[in-house]
Amino acid sequence: MRFIDAHTHTFLRNFEDLERMALSGVHGLVVCAYLPTRPSASATLLDLFRWLTQEETARLETHGLQVRVALGNHPRCIPDGQFADVLEELERSFHEGAAAALGEVGLESGDARELDVLQQQLRVAKACRVPVVLHTPRQGKEKVLPQLFRVLEAESLDPSRVVIDHLTPALVPEVRAFGAMAGLTVQPGKLTPADVVAVVGERGTEGIVIDSDLSHLPSDPLALPRCAQALSRAGQPRAVVEAVTFGNAARLFGFESAVPRPVAGPEAPA
Ligand SMILES: [Zn+2]
Repeated sequence: MRFIDAHTHTFLRNFEDLERMALSGVHGLVVCAYLPTRPSASATLLDLFRWLTQEETARLETHGLQVRVALGNHPRCIPDGQFADVLEELERSFHEGAAAALGEVGLESGDARELDVLQQQLRVAKACRVPVVLHTPRQGKEKVLPQLFRVLEAESLDPSRVVIDHLTPALVPEVRAFGAMAGLTVQPGKLTPADVVAVVGERGTEGIVIDSDLSHLPSDPLALPRCAQALSRAGQPRAVVEAVTFGNAARLFGFESAVPRPVAGPEAPA
């Protein structure tokens, strides 16, 4: 089987983790912008964006991994001062195809500055027609979720092109009722493969994507293969496993090989 990890920060991991992912069937991944510190100026974000779209993409491709880069300003690392150059760079990157999605953006505390930065970035995503990866905080997801719904509605974003990520199983029905994709993060302190088995068993595959949120924090490069194994062992058919570990993310983020190529038959003898 092959997998797509729908939310990673591979640039905070070592070479060997990437090799293990490729060897275990990870076909592609979404690399999301994030800084584990608050930048002193927006120029730091611009350098991060260049790092991800150039050096990090090349590093991942040496392992045969397909890459889709998500660029954006995470709510935990909003710089002071001006922000217009970040918005301009996002627009340029989406237009040129250097980045395929807006992310990781969202709300942490949900204060006015975070909301403003999110709103401005969503406008660029909408204009450039790219999907969005939305962060929800470890604590207080119930509080920020209605805020996220309101801002998505206010900006008329197509919810089916938005992943609301790091959900608890209890929040999945609300997010699906809103029409957004439900992101299940399998990582120590978040969900386990058993949680994914329970959610998929209860709700089916529609609108579900799985990710590792691979970062400098404890994370599992093998989250996707582990979920596939758990789903198979729980008796889910291959089509179900394929939908949540590959197909849904492949369609959303435009991984080229999402559309199966016709299998050519043997050449007829002349
Ligand atoms: Zn993340």
